[in-house]
Amino acid sequence: MGELELRNLTKVFGGGGGDESGDDDGDGIVAVSDLSIEMADGEFLVLVGPSGCGKSTTLRCIAGLEHTTDGRISLDGRDITDLKPKERDMAMVFQNYALYPHMTVRKNIGYGLSITTDLSSSEVDDRVEEIAELLEIPELLDKKPKELSGGQQQRVALGRAIVREPEVFLMDEPLSNLDAKLRTQMRTEIQQLQADLGTSTVYVTHDQTEAMTMGDRIAILDGGELQQVGTPLECYHEPANAFVAGFIGSPSMNFLPVEFTGDELRHKAFSYDLSADLQEHLRNAPRELTLGIRPEHIEIAEDGARNVVHAPIEVIEPMGELSYLHLTIGGTTYTASIDGDRHHQVGEAVDVLFPEAKIHLFARDGGEAVKNSRDAAAPATDESATVATD
Ligand code: ATP
Repeated sequence: MGELELRNLTKVFGGGGGDESGDDDGDGIVAVSDLSIEMADGEFLVLVGPSGCGKSTTLRCIAGLEHTTDGRISLDGRDITDLKPKERDMAMVFQNYALYPHMTVRKNIGYGLSITTDLSSSEVDDRVEEIAELLEIPELLDKKPKELSGGQQQRVALGRAIVREPEVFLMDEPLSNLDAKLRTQMRTEIQQLQADLGTSTVYVTHDQTEAMTMGDRIAILDGGELQQVGTPLECYHEPANAFVAGFIGSPSMNFLPVEFTGDELRHKAFSYDLSADLQEHLRNAPRELTLGIRPEHIEIAEDGARNVVHAPIEVIEPMGELSYLHLTIGGTTYTASIDGDRHHQVGEAVDVLFPEAKIHLFARDGGEAVKNSRDAAAPATDESATVATD
């Protein structure tokens, strides 16, 4: 079992918090604020957010490397908030691998087992060899860390965590020291390994692609506060607020300030007629809204289409299958991702559409979503909304 629960977890540095030694390290910085998440046994949960949002601190609190200021952490219903790290039945994999440089791979993997269990040295050795087979590194067992590549060191670090058969794996940006190709490969390997072992995993990253591709669910943090927890597709289609909408997806969602008049959205460069269903859905929406549209959802209007916006192309980035057009609308630059076979030129103006089913609307004050692309409460229409230049 590995049902982990964080209940109102708060960590303040310098305001009564501190590290394992009990020292205070700062002056009242709220690193994590009132964070509650429940994880199912075997789940792969990714904590994601920009630098300084509190991901590592949350993970370190779960590991017991930081004392919590407030709140409760439990594993399988047992309160572990005040237990020492070694009493928590969790294994952590760090960004810098944290291997013992003077020990062979065999010793690095087996060391934790030999000091925390009463297994004989031949039993530890058998277990280490089993794990080395699993990670496809048996030929490295008698090498020292400095003789290994970054990817191999990462495998050893994983081996060290797996050998202990913990209830929970905690991984803090474990792939960030690898080059892009190896990172993609290790991403898949870690996912497969985790699925095979069925061990609950909390994985920290600042990389939204890693979060989207690896997590069963992702928890998005900002300023120490949980913004949303959901499956990658829920967070993509139904972001709780503009922060999540902008963080998830690449290139990022475009945001345009608009005024909701009751039957249309008014932007300084165009007005956007709303369907009757969407007008009804927005009945109680605030006047000041932000229209969100993902680059991949902007469409190039066919000749003769009505109510399109003419947007000059500032820059074209050909990506092969796709091209990114940087378009100027009302003096601001937005990105559209279009079919790479289409031919356009910088300086030319294109006619674009924002399909109504694909637009998001957020309250400008506070950023809360009032309409999403797959909002059950919003009309599921494929009909492209009209975008008319004023
Ligand atoms: P990154 O991706 O840059 O590692 P993060 O999301 O993991 O960022 P944390 O390392 O958890 O963020 O830090 C959250 C906040 O807590 C930051 O403002 C950071 O400066 C502060 N912080 C972290 N550790 C300490 C500490 N030991 N003493 C004081 N402040 C700290």
